[in-house]
Amino acid sequence: MTSKCTSCGLESTLEDAFQQAHSSQCRAAYCPTCLADWQAQQQKARLGSMAILLAVGVAGYLLTGNSIALLALAIGLVMLFDVLLIPFHELAHAVTALIVRMRLFNVCIGSVGRIAWVIRVFGCDIVLRTIPAGGSTLIAPRSTRWFRLRNFAVVLAAPLLHIGLIGISLVAWQRNHWGTLATTVTWAFILSNFLTLALSVWPRKCWADGRMIANDGLLLLQAPILSRRAIEASHAQCILMEALECLERNQPDEARRWIETGLATYPDDPSIRYGQGMVLLGLRQYAQARELFLELLSEGDEPSELHAVCHNNIAWADLLANKPELYAEADECSKKAYDALPWLPNIKSTRGIALVAIGRQNEALPLLGKAFEQFESKCDRALNACCLAAVFARRGDAEQAQKYTAQARGLDPECPLVAWAEQSMGEFAAGITR
Ligand SMILES: [Zn+2]
Ligand SMILES: [Zn+2]
Repeated sequence: MTSKCTSCGLESTLEDAFQQAHSSQCRAAYCPTCLADWQAQQQKARLGSMAILLAVGVAGYLLTGNSIALLALAIGLVMLFDVLLIPFHELAHAVTALIVRMRLFNVCIGSVGRIAWVIRVFGCDIVLRTIPAGGSTLIAPRSTRWFRLRNFAVVLAAPLLHIGLIGISLVAWQRNHWGTLATTVTWAFILSNFLTLALSVWPRKCWADGRMIANDGLLLLQAPILSRRAIEASHAQCILMEALECLERNQPDEARRWIETGLATYPDDPSIRYGQGMVLLGLRQYAQARELFLELLSEGDEPSELHAVCHNNIAWADLLANKPELYAEADECSKKAYDALPWLPNIKSTRGIALVAIGRQNEALPLLGKAFEQFESKCDRALNACCLAAVFARRGDAEQAQKYTAQARGLDPECPLVAWAEQSMGEFAAGITR
């Protein structure tokens, strides 16, 4: 069984790879790229309608003072508060997580659009996307102790915030004799809080930060009945995310320490062993990384997302080991990964480099170009720019090769991955030229 995107026709060898999204006429299976585009259009339309209603409402009310203008203003205000309440909703989760000593990885304002701004506060990334509608908070348990209770408190904090804001607004409105405009603003604020509360506690899954996640209502229902196994899996995920974050910050030794802790606690957990492979890649121990990912592949015969990323990582290890006898395996594995997860930029990038290795530069270039556009972090873009430089060097286009090398340096001169990639790709390009 395969999946096919209803919108762009992209196919994946993974069954049910594409999320189900409601369009106006039908229930369609969209690939993550089309789903994100569709959601971005919806959110832009919502923000556009909000701006028009606010402008018409304010102008109409000031000029005529009639009730239709006031109604337009009220609806615009409900939509505006809906956007403004998101950071407070997410902060309620985040602050409670810090109080109950959970690990806070990131707070994301906006669920679609590119990353516009990131700031790191107390070890947590605050991320602002270009379309500031929707949001998410990534939290994981540092230990399994009292997890159900702590998790319940973290999730409940945001709905409680809205109930509190509704209560305070109602009391303030009753105690003061405000005029028509202040009353309209207050009731728009109350209604917006009520709608946000209702949507967050009505149990469902929703799209946030590039994936489908359970909303507050669903998490609250699940929290008290979570199995021991599920709690341990969450803790293992926390250790994996710590290790991956260290790798992203070019701290492979620190990442190794996290994985050693993880292996001591959960020796058979696939996500910890996957993390071990990633750390070996970070430490440039390509042969050991390849062995580990091959071992993970041999377990379980169902094609899965984990299988696809293992294929991708085997290809990556083969390519960076700079052994031409492994290029055939890199080609086969990167193709399997690409056939399963063709929308992911790192999968495209690996496939592109594998194609360069086997001399199919013309096919590689569009893939590397698309991956370059998709990558959001400067380090990833810098790394991909180095890959593009290697392709152009291989094609004998020194000017383009230099352009991408300079771009890689300009994108992130501090990122040691640039130097590493330049060196590796340089050796690799030299290797395949021989
Ligand atoms: Zn699509
Ligand atoms: Zn929430």
